[in-house]
Amino acid sequence: MHRGVRTRPVNLYDLTREELRLQLVRWEVNPFHTAQLWNYLYLQLADSFAAMTDLPARVRTVLEREARLGVLPTALETDSSDGFTRKYLLRLDDDHRIETVLMRFTGRVTACISSQVGCAMGCVFCATGQMGYTRHLTAGEIVAQAVHIARALRSAREPHRLRNVVLMGMGEPLHNYDAVMHAVDILRDEAGLALGAGRITLSTVGVVPGILRLARESRPLHLAVSLHAATQAERAALVPAAKKWPLDELMAACRAYSEQTGRRIFYEWTLIAGQNDTPDHARAVGRLLQGLPAQVNLIPLNPTAGYGGAPTKTDAARHFQQVLAHEFQLPSTVRQRRGIDIAAGCGQLAVSAS
Ligand code: SAH
Ligand code: SF4
Repeated sequence: MHRGVRTRPVNLYDLTREELRLQLVRWEVNPFHTAQLWNYLYLQLADSFAAMTDLPARVRTVLEREARLGVLPTALETDSSDGFTRKYLLRLDDDHRIETVLMRFTGRVTACISSQVGCAMGCVFCATGQMGYTRHLTAGEIVAQAVHIARALRSAREPHRLRNVVLMGMGEPLHNYDAVMHAVDILRDEAGLALGAGRITLSTVGVVPGILRLARESRPLHLAVSLHAATQAERAALVPAAKKWPLDELMAACRAYSEQTGRRIFYEWTLIAGQNDTPDHARAVGRLLQGLPAQVNLIPLNPTAGYGGAPTKTDAARHFQQVLAHEFQLPSTVRQRRGIDIAAGCGQLAVSAS
């Protein structure tokens, strides 16, 4: 409350369980109700206070007055013809829109969620980069996307629960560090969505201070770093952020991260025909990553309106992998192409900033 101006009602998805407990105390609600409320939020996936029928009416009245449930309404829902991918266009309170993708793999479901409206990093081949930056998402808006997917799975009576989250949707998560980590802490709560123990992967363009901070703080995340090129000049041409955080500083930060956390990093490499997909490029990656605990994720370029490059053919991608494996003992995967027809693939997420 600032000088009589009423603060916006608290979005319950913004709070960790401990913060929720403290908030209830502040509202003079018995904190005994924390577990019950948390259960409604993240296990029953309630979409309104009215649905929380086991809470005493008095508590519901306080919630109606002081809080809100930041459920994100669906503006559009599109299924891919691949049968595995569904893209949700979700509406934020200020009417901006973000995209969240549900991806089914054998035996598990992954949500690809956004961390910003747009992105400031401007990678030339990325549709989100091409739309520019509008704003950071709040922790609650990030959490609400995972809840949205979990709820969608349940209402469709799908056999699988949400098992993994990848922060690979719109935006650069380490540019919005505090909100993203707050959301991660909420998502990994054992009594809630329980997406701890390495079920969350965060992909960064290479924000060096963020990687170093992540190395100091212990969170059970998988880290993926978008490399795309093994020399500073080639990388800066694709990823303008490389001018701010040059390749040698990025690699030093990655080394520090792996040393301090004991974790392997996934290095992402968008394969663009003729640009970064020859055996010599593979050797350059191999040399760059030598001695580091690493796995390379190769992503054949997905089409976007603002970039004319073509994806690497399957044979060339396989050859790239063989060079990494045989000459450098470096494991790699080629990302399955999913949801391309509905522009839900890596780097295809973009909505007009309304
Ligand atoms: N901002 C973060 C996460 C979002 S993008 C990052 O850049 O890492 C997730 C991955 O998709 C990144 O590795 C990104 O480089 C890649 N990507 C972006 N545009 C792409 C495109 N058109 N085709 C294939 N991969 C793309
Ligand atoms: Fe932003 Fe990642 Fe797209 Fe680059 S690839 S513009 S960092 S979302």
